[in-house]
Amino acid sequence: MLNIVLFGPPGAGKGTQSESLIEKYGLIHLSTGDIFRANIKGETDLGLLAKSYMDKGHLVPDSLTIDILRAEVLKANSSKGYIFDGFPRTTAQAEALDNFLKSINTSITLMLALEVEENELKNRLLKRAAISGRSDDADPAIIENRIAVYNKETAPVKDFYENQGKLITISGIGSIDEITNRLFHAVDTRNA
Ligand code: AMP
Repeated sequence: MLNIVLFGPPGAGKGTQSESLIEKYGLIHLSTGDIFRANIKGETDLGLLAKSYMDKGHLVPDSLTIDILRAEVLKANSSKGYIFDGFPRTTAQAEALDNFLKSINTSITLMLALEVEENELKNRLLKRAAISGRSDDADPAIIENRIAVYNKETAPVKDFYENQGKLITISGIGSIDEITNRLFHAVDTRNA
């Protein structure tokens, strides 16, 4: 199986690049952000709870996020592998993911970490707001918060995978196709 963690700050291009990776490698896409947004749309209890954190640019609590992710992996039941987009976002989530994958006899193959500098991220998110209608993209104060949370709580997840020899950093600057090719090259080199 090929299990990829697609990592990077908000606005790095994780969602966009996931689409190409899924298509090329036949993976199932699991985005905790998308799962939360679907629940908000469906007005479920989970959606209501998640919204109260997302609207402020805070992380949804680990225990809830981990439970949801586990359930989605079991539901999808892929034989080829998964692409985890926006998860894990804390070291506790990364540890829980490792334990869970072990329990179903698989593991993370590699982390692809997209790197984009902060000013470019802010510009991209404000531009995306006009298209996505995401309220957490439209407000500069919330964007600041999300980037601060990323730097403090999420960036250390890179060290977790680096310590396992699984981290590959990729420049997230350039055209969409250029970045896709860098990602494909990284996966193919690792998988060769
Ligand atoms: P995203 O679509 O990945 O940008 O996520 C949007 C928002 O959903 C984040 O700002 C968080 O509030 C929440 N969220 C998504 N994934 C996670 C996660 N793994 N852990 C905690 N909160 C998350």
